[in-house]
Order: sequence, then C-alpha cells, then structure tokens
Amino acid sequence: MDNLEELVKHLVKTGRVKNKLISEAFLKIDRKDFVADDYKSKSYEDEALPIGHGASISQPSTIAFILEKSELVVGDKILEIGTGSGYVTALLAYLVTKKGRVDSIEYIPELKETAEKNLSKYNFGNIKLYVGDGKEGLKNFSPFNKIISGAYVKNIPKSWREQLEINGKIITPFNNSIIVLTKLSDKEFKQNEFSGFSFVPLR
Ligand code: SAH
Repeated sequence: MDNLEELVKHLVKTGRVKNKLISEAFLKIDRKDFVADDYKSKSYEDEALPIGHGASISQPSTIAFILEKSELVVGDKILEIGTGSGYVTALLAYLVTKKGRVDSIEYIPELKETAEKNLSKYNFGNIKLYVGDGKEGLKNFSPFNKIISGAYVKNIPKSWREQLEINGKIITPFNNSIIVLTKLSDKEFKQNEFSGFSFVPLR
C-alpha cells in the first residue's frame, strides 16, 4: 500500500477497525515515523517489520484488533509492556487523550531510546517510558485500567492481575492467540481467547 489512507481503508474494509476513533488514531499517528530507516518503503504494508534487537513493529491489523478489544475510554491509565518502536504507545496516548496516561516498559534500553526519539515529534504530554522487565509491572503507578502487552507470555504474570483496577482488562498475546482478561473482583477474572496471530516472545 502506498500511503497511510490506503492502509487505514484496508483495516476498516477487513473489519479490523470498527471504531471511528481508532481509525482516526491510525490516521493521526503516521506509522512511517516509527518504522526503521531500512524499511520506510514498507511503512504502509499490513505486516510486522524488524526494528532491531530481535524486535519488530507490530502488524497494523493485529494492533487494530488489540485496540478494539481494549475498549479504551478517555482518561484510561494504561500500562504497556514492550514499547518497541513506540507506535502502539502513541496510538494509546492519542486514544486516552491528555486526561489519561500511558506508562510503557521496554526491556532493551536502545529500543526505549529509539521509541523516545520517534515519539518526540508528537509532543504527547501523557507518556512515560521505562526500561525494565514488564513481567513485574509498575507497582508504584498502579492500579491501571488496561494492561496491554506487545510480546507474548507463557503465563500471565501475577503482578499484572494485582496491578489492575476492578473492571480493568489485560490484553496480551498468549502463544499465538490474543487473550483478554477482565477483572471482575480481586480474585475473579473472565477470560476470552482469540486465535490466529503471531508474536515475538516476552523475554
Ligand atoms: N508494539 C511494539 C513492539 C512489539 S515487539 C511496536 O509496535 O513497536 C515486543 C517488544 O517487547 C520488543 O520491543 C521487546 O524488546 C519487548 N519485550 C520483550 N520482553 C520484554 C519484557 N520482559 N519486558 C519489557 N519489554 C519486553
């Protein structure tokens, strides 16, 4: 696809994007700003692209699916695991607006720096990036309304369940599915699983 509008049309036509605000976010945040130099010409293809250090910028249709399932609300406090290029961070920050915030943890310091550089163009005042192990969450800033991971997990960390608000959601790749866990009470979670995706593993 040649331009951002075509990519977004594709996401809407294939049913991945349903919500008007989500398609608006995809049009406002230019994926090209987050793709590595060697891959700029493929910015608007619906595929994951390498960003170095064994990581990749996620596939737009997968991101769209995750954003739709997240049921984001203006003012949401989000914890993102696996900042990578910062692309999803930007989409989240746009959708929760300045009334909300996104805290994002990346394991690899160089990628956190890349994300910081990519995001600097957008002047979001509601994003904070951290280097660390996302499996531990971010206790000091909890509870969160949504915890969204970009890397797949073999087990959902206990810290994520604990650091989630009641009625909050964890959205994470799990093997090659996407799992949505809704916190019903301190001890009860409802789980939905959607298959047919592929992800890089959480370290
Ligand atoms: N959604 C992002 C990138 C997803 S790739 C984008 O579109 O650019 C997954 C990212 O998770 C990679 O950057 C990887 O380094 C990071 N990651 C892997 N294990 C992690 C962990 N334990 N804690 C934090 N980040 C981790």
